[in-house]
Amino acid sequence: MNKHLNHLIEIANIDKEIDSFEPRITKIREELNKVLAKKEELAKEIAILGDERRDIELKAQKNELHLEELSSKLEEIAKKGKAIKTEKEMKALSLEEEIAKEQVTFANEEIARLEKLKESKEEEIKGYEEQISILSEEQKKIEQAVQSQIEEIEAERTKVFKAKEALVVKMDQKIIAFYEKIRKWAKNTSVVPVRKQACGGCFIKINDKIYAEVIKSEDIVTCPHCGRILYAEIQA
Ligand SMILES: [Zn+2]
Repeated sequence: MNKHLNHLIEIANIDKEIDSFEPRITKIREELNKVLAKKEELAKEIAILGDERRDIELKAQKNELHLEELSSKLEEIAKKGKAIKTEKEMKALSLEEEIAKEQVTFANEEIARLEKLKESKEEEIKGYEEQISILSEEQKKIEQAVQSQIEEIEAERTKVFKAKEALVVKMDQKIIAFYEKIRKWAKNTSVVPVRKQACGGCFIKINDKIYAEVIKSEDIVTCPHCGRILYAEIQA
């Protein structure tokens, strides 16, 4: 087979390999990205719970303030009680006192309820924080593994790049330029085998004359339908 065609097939295979590195790295990072996404999700949950806790605290504060107001009111009622003259006044005052005391009870109950609610929110937050710390441990392990795997791939990639360079210098530069032009659109199917007398790229049948040229492989032959470089697989 034509030496140039042979080299071209090799270069095309190397380019395919070079193209496979990026998806391999992406795949390795996938697991890490999953962990990071999960952590982010948990952090969002914690932020929501934090807001809810703050709302609860504000409500509790309001009730505390209300309690203070009620206690001054009760003091006032006690003072007024000393200056009471009629039974009617006394009845009105004791009703007022009763209402204030009921409100005190209600506010205290509300504070207790809010306190419980706050505790449960804090429990939830703690649970999420524990999950995050477990994920962080996992993340560290994955990061170490990812780094060593990526280093391996990078080393492989450098080797492949060098192999390509070595081939390219041996080649007719016009043929390389021609190949690169096809590669711009045909990517990893720039150099394809002919199978059952059809182009391995566009799968359209080629005529006998071109097929004979491909089999002879004295020249670089392109597909008349799509323009990809063809080679006879059996001889490769
Ligand atoms: Zn074709």
